[in-house]
Amino acid sequence: AADLPHVSESDPTAKALGYVEDASTTKDPKHKAGANCANCQFYSGGPTGFGPCQLFPGKAVSAKGWCVSHAAKA
Ligand code: SF4
Repeated sequence: AADLPHVSESDPTAKALGYVEDASTTKDPKHKAGANCANCQFYSGGPTGFGPCQLFPGKAVSAKGWCVSHAAKA
């Protein structure tokens, strides 16, 4: 998974979902403190770096990233 291309914030899907590579930079009111890709149920990568997200097939998102579809891991 390490070689998957990274999702760009300017990617249309990323824009639609308000994806940011660093959760601390989002101004979206839906963001809850501490929420990031690493603790999202759609993420299957490691705690740092980049990993796959079910919403971005074939690409990798940042562990410390975030988007509006964030759902906490059960
Ligand atoms: Fe990150 Fe979850 Fe959004 Fe995927 S769905 S980009 S893992 S917050």
